[in-house]
Amino acid sequence: ETQKETMEFQAEVRQLMKLMIHSLYSNKEIFLRELISNASDACDKLRFEALSNDALYDGDSDLKIRVNFDKEARTITVSDNGVGMSRDEVVDNIGTIAKSGTKQFFESLTGDQSHDLELIGQFGVGFYSCFIVADKVTLTTRRAGAPADQAVQWESDGEGSYSLTNAAKDGRGTDIVLHMREGEDEFLDAWRLRSIITRYSDHISIPIEMPSQEEGKEGEYEVINSASALWKRPKKEISEEEYKEFYKHVAHDFGEPLAWTHNQVEGTQSYTSLLYIPKTAPFDLWDRDRRHGIKLYVRRVFIMDDAEHLMPQYLRFVRGLVDSDDLPLNVSREILQQNKFIDSIRAASVKKILGLLEKMANNEPEKYAEFWKQFGQVMKEGPAEDFANRERIAKLLRFSSTYTDSEEQNVSLEDYVSRMPDGQDKIYYITADSFSAAKNSPHLEVFRKKGIEVLLLSDRVDEWLVSHLTEFDGKPLVSVAKGDLDLGKLGNDKEEKKDDKAEEDYKAFLDKLKDVLADEVSEVRSSQRLTDSPSCLVLGEQEMAMHMQQLLKQAGH
Ligand code: ADP
Ligand code: MG
Repeated sequence: ETQKETMEFQAEVRQLMKLMIHSLYSNKEIFLRELISNASDACDKLRFEALSNDALYDGDSDLKIRVNFDKEARTITVSDNGVGMSRDEVVDNIGTIAKSGTKQFFESLTGDQSHDLELIGQFGVGFYSCFIVADKVTLTTRRAGAPADQAVQWESDGEGSYSLTNAAKDGRGTDIVLHMREGEDEFLDAWRLRSIITRYSDHISIPIEMPSQEEGKEGEYEVINSASALWKRPKKEISEEEYKEFYKHVAHDFGEPLAWTHNQVEGTQSYTSLLYIPKTAPFDLWDRDRRHGIKLYVRRVFIMDDAEHLMPQYLRFVRGLVDSDDLPLNVSREILQQNKFIDSIRAASVKKILGLLEKMANNEPEKYAEFWKQFGQVMKEGPAEDFANRERIAKLLRFSSTYTDSEEQNVSLEDYVSRMPDGQDKIYYITADSFSAAKNSPHLEVFRKKGIEVLLLSDRVDEWLVSHLTEFDGKPLVSVAKGDLDLGKLGNDKEEKKDDKAEEDYKAFLDKLKDVLADEVSEVRSSQRLTDSPSCLVLGEQEMAMHMQQLLKQAGH
């Protein structure tokens, strides 16, 4: 029996489609890129599932994507014989956004179209782009392994709701029929569709076919794209444009990459890696359940998304793929956890990314500044997580400091060290809840007076960072709020020696204070820290920084 159900789009999906239609209007041809990208993913998934269940191919292992159009009916059809979807999968994948972080995402939309577009684009919403050009979309899909009469048809006008009907379909996979909007006839044209495919989808490794236009070949299909794995092609034959388009596919991002590194390694171990640094931080950078990291391929067969063992946490923004020649095809997540091939690919990939960043920092400082704004806070997790590369990571870090007093983090530890006056053997920093609290701290008074630079740390991760990065270039990192400073011989203010006389003069006063504050502090001392403020709180050498104590207090400890 046919079961027709009408279902409402999730409110967020409705809002998203509206936004999408408006912001992508000037770039609407990308709907085809997105549908082809999904079809290619569906073929990858089938090939992977068939590794352990050959029957899923059902005699048809020739995976392909077909694009057809009908000028009279005003439709474009994109078909694949990939994995298809069950009824439940259709409901889960199309019509709902089941991702955590959806709410914050919508709150972060500003109404500025180009900014919003960048955000939308990395949200995994490619499918909805078909409503830019279509006022009705009919998707018929049959899960690999399901019988012909257990297909399902999804249909929507992209307004408020969609319908689901049981259907029959020859062959597995998905057909998507776009009923084009009034005025979108330009797409009902073989030349136009071919040129869009060549422009945006040439790198897709599954063949994309269209009806042949050659005389005598009516009814036959011909392949439009190169249909080879881009990452296996010789590097010098791949254009910048192709690398960029491939990024959009592999990273599910509408935006461009900031940089990439492509490595074809042969030897005792052979593999290829193509790793990208995105331009914009993904909305779920801080979300534990995020997806889309590095894809793992074995001999060009897609194995898994988000192989987290291929990149450490502090480089979790890296996108792309690794294709190994040596791993078994039946490799599982468990095997990856302790596999010597994976360990060495991972170590080499980390070095490649650090190298890419070092080059950017040296040769293109403005680009690096852009990178740092997006991903700096994540990089600061590096020294704690990756002991072996601690020194290299430390050189890549950027901070605010009293040298510029600007909130922009653009001071490197090397810059700091190069400015240290004779006799200074420590790197000073202060941590606080906010940049202005750090910058205006009374602890800095003596440093400012003596012209000694202090790093101003106010990111949440900074306390964690300095607890693991305890020295740089042989110089200890020291908090200006902890312990005895002994700045006597330092800086451009030489008049000071340790002033025992002051201590004596004020002894009575200090004792009195100590009495009054007995429950609050362990000691009251005269200080060389201050020039203008009458007093400040200082922590003992061993105590947790004040900031950390406040955080713990807020958290109810
Ligand atoms: P993304 O590709 O980033 O996941 P999309 O909006 O493009 O986001 O697609 C949403 C989901 O719909 C996909 O993740 C996939 O599960 C499903 N899907 C879309 N197109 C197809 C298809 N042709 N075959 C199978 N599943 C598909
Ligand atoms: Mg997609």
